[in-house]
Amino acid sequence: VTDKINALPDDAHYFSLEFFPPKTSIGFLNLQNRLERMSQALRPLFVTVTWGAGGSTATKSLELAEICQRQLGLTTCLHLTCTNMSRSLIDDALEQAKVLGIRNILALRGDAPRSEEYMDETQLQEDSNKEFTWAIDLVRYIRRQYGDYFCIGVAAYPEGHSDESHPEKQDPEFDLPYLVEKTRAGADFIMTQLFFDVEAFDRFETRLREHESGVFKTIPIIPGLMPIQSYQILRRTTKLSHAKLPEDMLARLDAVKGDDELVKQVGVDILSEMVEHIQKRPSPKRRGFHFYTLNLEKAVAHILENTHLIPSTLDQQVLEVDFTPSGLPI
Ligand code: FAD
Repeated sequence: VTDKINALPDDAHYFSLEFFPPKTSIGFLNLQNRLERMSQALRPLFVTVTWGAGGSTATKSLELAEICQRQLGLTTCLHLTCTNMSRSLIDDALEQAKVLGIRNILALRGDAPRSEEYMDETQLQEDSNKEFTWAIDLVRYIRRQYGDYFCIGVAAYPEGHSDESHPEKQDPEFDLPYLVEKTRAGADFIMTQLFFDVEAFDRFETRLREHESGVFKTIPIIPGLMPIQSYQILRRTTKLSHAKLPEDMLARLDAVKGDDELVKQVGVDILSEMVEHIQKRPSPKRRGFHFYTLNLEKAVAHILENTHLIPSTLDQQVLEVDFTPSGLPI
């Protein structure tokens, strides 16, 4: 990933797309067809494939990563979590990634598995390893085992939250020393949690760039953006991720919340404005954007077109079909 970023002109803007492995074979087939069209029409610099907490999607994540990397020739970054994972599962994932020609890992801690996530029979967690408590443990492990073979990305959180019921504190200032250490341990790029409050991102990025350690001076900091697919999905994901919805955005969405199509349109406008805002910010070199696609493509294609991240001659075929998160056409 960083080789590709560094090969771009200094003033270039690029983007990446995130996908998750569908649960069913029909979902896989649909996503594969979609990815094929998208990779040609949108040309992301790279794609990322999510990893279910505790390894719950290990087989399917690797299957999807194989489709992306091998069949479609997309530069692929595999997410990998390390808590509630046996060391052998981590070793298998890294070895298989290497065999598939994948050179990029987003090294994450992961959360405890949620009940709605499905488990593969091979991913039992009895031997969950105490060796891996934080994402930094995984970064160090990958560097120890594989040297510079993998380009490593790590997660960061531009916003805090004051949710008393949440077991874990989230506060950018509290995280900062750990992010410094995680970066020093061998991270090549930083990808952020989704957010809608661009000012929080501004503050966060400035804080990092000016940090006295100097470790964030030039490292790519890629903002994570989630296109708005529906009012319900938005409310659910903002609750889960603790992303704040600024009042004015909420008012614009509230005004159309009964009409799914209008919500999507307003969502495209909002996300396009966010991208444009960030595009105007000073950046050491080359500005990237990461989109949490939820395996849906219409909204992201419109945002990319609006913000000139792709040419405006988009293949209409791409925009005609969309899929639900389960992978079925809608
Ligand atoms: P860490 O970097 O370990 O940090 C977690 C928390 O612990 C932070 O608050 C940090 O400040 C604190 N901390 C770190 N080190 C220490 C220490 N030594 N002592 C005390 N506190 C410490 N989850 C999935 O399950 N699958 C995915 O595919 C996935 N993809 C993601 C992609 C992105 C871009 C992002 C932002 C998140 C993703 N997540 C995913 C969620 C992620 O796993 C969770 O947010 C998790 O709770 C934290 O992971 P982390 O890698 O940031 O952890």
